[in-house]
Amino acid sequence: MTEHLNHFIEGASFEASDGRRINLVNPVTEQVYGSSAQGTTEDVDRAVTAAHRQLEGGAWSQLDGAQRGQLLSKLADLVERDSEMLADMDANAIGRSPIEPRRMDLPNAIANLRAAAGWANQLEGRTIPTGGYFGTKTLSYTVREPVGVVGAIVPWNSPLMITVWKLAALLAAGCTVVIKPSEETPQSALHLAVLAQEAGFPDGVINVVTGYGNEVGRALCEHPLVAKISFTGSPEAGREIQRTAGVLFKRVALELGGKSPQIVFDDASFEDALRGCALGLFANQGQVCAAGSRILVHRSIADRFGAALADAAKAVNVGDPRQPGVQMGPVAKKAQFDRVNRYIQLGIDQGASLLAGGVSTPERGWFVRPTIFTNANNAMAIAQDEIFGPVGTLITFDSEEEAIALANDSSYGLAATVWTTDLVRAHRVAAAVKAGAVGINCWSPLDANLPWGGVKTSGIGREGGFAGAVAYTEEKVITVLLPS
Ligand code: NAD
Repeated sequence: MTEHLNHFIEGASFEASDGRRINLVNPVTEQVYGSSAQGTTEDVDRAVTAAHRQLEGGAWSQLDGAQRGQLLSKLADLVERDSEMLADMDANAIGRSPIEPRRMDLPNAIANLRAAAGWANQLEGRTIPTGGYFGTKTLSYTVREPVGVVGAIVPWNSPLMITVWKLAALLAAGCTVVIKPSEETPQSALHLAVLAQEAGFPDGVINVVTGYGNEVGRALCEHPLVAKISFTGSPEAGREIQRTAGVLFKRVALELGGKSPQIVFDDASFEDALRGCALGLFANQGQVCAAGSRILVHRSIADRFGAALADAAKAVNVGDPRQPGVQMGPVAKKAQFDRVNRYIQLGIDQGASLLAGGVSTPERGWFVRPTIFTNANNAMAIAQDEIFGPVGTLITFDSEEEAIALANDSSYGLAATVWTTDLVRAHRVAAAVKAGAVGINCWSPLDANLPWGGVKTSGIGREGGFAGAVAYTEEKVITVLLPS
């Protein structure tokens, strides 16, 4: 079946204003299976104008928090109804096994929508005691208002879940949105917009403009009626977005990459740590922002742990993820295949040793062998750069202090995991590691109520939880003079 995907603007389907299209390519077969509209500045303007109209006296602006919450609840129900279809859409677009999004992305997205339904009427203001106004008493209070039209720019690795993180929070806050999905994965965002229409959201509240980052994404960052850009993606694009959006002082939230350490102490449960490290390395072919791609292991167990992890890597069944028994599909695109292989070669050239995997030869489908390096040090490119593929780098340490220093010797700070059975050490290390999220004996737990985001190059701001909805509001203070 050939997919022909268009923009979704103000409740209707539109081709690109100049008719251009982007091919969609299956990463398993490398066959073109459809196309999407290649959005233009004109398309973005149409969508942003529609979203803005809804805030300026449109039906959406008349709804109160409880009513927005009801719509979010309905949307959650519809996403749940179509969850298998949505999981398959995301999985097929990037060659991922549908089992992962069914187990993780969809339940998380539905939970986010349900949680946001509750947040929508809890965005309260404050009354603030003041010293009065030139001797006259005053009453000062604050209200939370929606920040405005949001440009939501989304990557390809977990398209629906990441779109919903933004959507749920910004709708709870009363904002409207133009979503720019990744050019590889527009399907689930478009279906989500159709579901929102079915749920009863007024047309124009949720718009989707498909296309490239340097056209659609840039046009969103430059549009004067976009108040906030919420971006998830690479630090390179994030840097450019902040520069462009900064000219008009737009609010910017950036969820960027990571090179997250998994610290394995010698007193850890060996089996639990092994399972957690393998999951953190190989889930979604390693194309996860929180991928635990730096395995820091205590020297006394490093050989045994490395060998067991290598066995786990070799045991992964790589192939067409729609076939039974296959655990890992290809990476999502040719550029990613080339990037991962380039880094594996660089690891070899810089002197690290392969325990499993290695450079993959191109064949039909962008399959990469799960790869484990040992004899590495933290200065190597395979220890410092985000590879975004199934590649793990093992580095040994001798003391807790050294483990913490290695963990923090990174430009990134998204996530970290501590594997130990020593409770005091677990909390001590969690406190010392510079990251937005630390898992103790669990890799990257996600929950609708937990904040998510990074420090350093991993980004600015947090998504998730009630504070994630607050981040889509502006606090306004109102003061009334109370003469006696
Ligand atoms: P990317 O930066 O190439 O693209 C992300 C999105 O931004 C896409 O929609 C793209 O079209 C758009 N874009 C690209 N350049 C742009 C520009 N100059 N202006 C505006 N928009 C632009 O990233 P990707 O390859 O799609 O995703 C992988 C990256 O995303 C990795 O670095 C990964 O760690 C990160 N990521 C982070 C999180 C998180 O929560 N921190 C989650 C998932 C992915």
